[in-house]
Amino acid sequence: MYDDLKEKVAVVTGGSKGIGSAIAKRFGQEKMKVVINYNSDQAGAQKAADEVIEAGGNAIIVQADVATEQGVQELLTAAINNYGDLDVWVNNAGLEIKSPTHELSLEDWNKVIAVDQTGVFLGSKTALAYFKKQQKKGNIINLSSVHERIPWPTFASYAAAKGGVKLFTQTIAMEYAKDGIRVNAIGPGAINTPINAEKFADKAQYDQTVNMVPMDRIGDPEEVAAGAAWLASNESSYVTGITLFIDGGMTLYPAFKDGQG
Ligand code: NAD
Repeated sequence: MYDDLKEKVAVVTGGSKGIGSAIAKRFGQEKMKVVINYNSDQAGAQKAADEVIEAGGNAIIVQADVATEQGVQELLTAAINNYGDLDVWVNNAGLEIKSPTHELSLEDWNKVIAVDQTGVFLGSKTALAYFKKQQKKGNIINLSSVHERIPWPTFASYAAAKGGVKLFTQTIAMEYAKDGIRVNAIGPGAINTPINAEKFADKAQYDQTVNMVPMDRIGDPEEVAAGAAWLASNESSYVTGITLFIDGGMTLYPAFKDGQG
C-alpha cells in the first residue's frame, strides 16, 4: 500500500473488466477516488465500482468512447465534478483483431488504431492539458504490451499501435518531465482476462502460451494492477518514460530458455 495515493483521483479507461477493473480495485484498496470508464458493459463497470467502494475507495462509472475527444473530455469533467481534481490517468482501454495482414480490412485496422493508439493520445492530451493548467505534477500510465517489442504476425494493427504507444509514452515523458509530470507504460505479457478468454479456453493454445513464459504460468490482472499502483505512487518518483514489463519473463527470448541456440 502507498500512503500518498490516499484520496487521489484517478481515471481508468476500459475499467469494466480485465486489467482495467483490477487497476480500479487496487486503487480502491489504496483509498483512491476512481472514475471507471466503460464503453458498453455497464454491469461490469458497476461491479468494478462496487469493489472499489468495498475496498475503501470511492468510484463512479462513466460511459465514454475513448476514441473520441468528447468521450475523454467527459471523463475529465466527471473527475472534476465528482472529486474536484485529477491526479492519475490510466489509458487502459484496448482491443485486438486477428487477421492475416494482406486480408486485414481498413475498417478493422482503423478500429484497433482508434482505441489502442489514438485513445492513448486523446486521454494523455486531456490529462496533460489539465495538469499544465493546474500546474499539477500529475501521472499518466499507458497500457502497452509485450508487443511493443515482440512482433506478432496476424495482429499487425495491434503491434503497430503498441509500438506507437511506446514511443508516444517516451516522447511525452520527455516533453513534460520539467513540469514534474510523469508518464510511463506497462507492458503486460499473457494475462488471464476476457481478451484472452477464447484462446485460453482451448487447452492446446493455453499450453502453447504458457510455454512462451519462462515463469511457466499465465499472469493475473492483479499483478499488473500492482505495477500501476507503484507507478502512480511516489515510490516511483524518479521513474518516467519506461515500459514496466509484467510478463513472467516473456520478453527475455524464451526460445532460448533451456540453453538452446
Ligand atoms: P479486456 O478486453 O478484458 O478489456 C479491455 C477493456 O477496454 C474492455 O472493458 C473494453 O470494453 C474497453 N474498451 C474497448 N474499446 C473501448 C473504447 N472505445 N472506449 C472505452 N473502452 C473501450 O482486455 P484486458 O486484457 O483487460 O486489456 C487491457 C489493456 O491491457 C489493453 O490495452 C490491452 O491491449 C493490454 N494488454 C493486455 C494483455 C493481456 O494478456 N490481457 C497483454 C498485453 C496488453
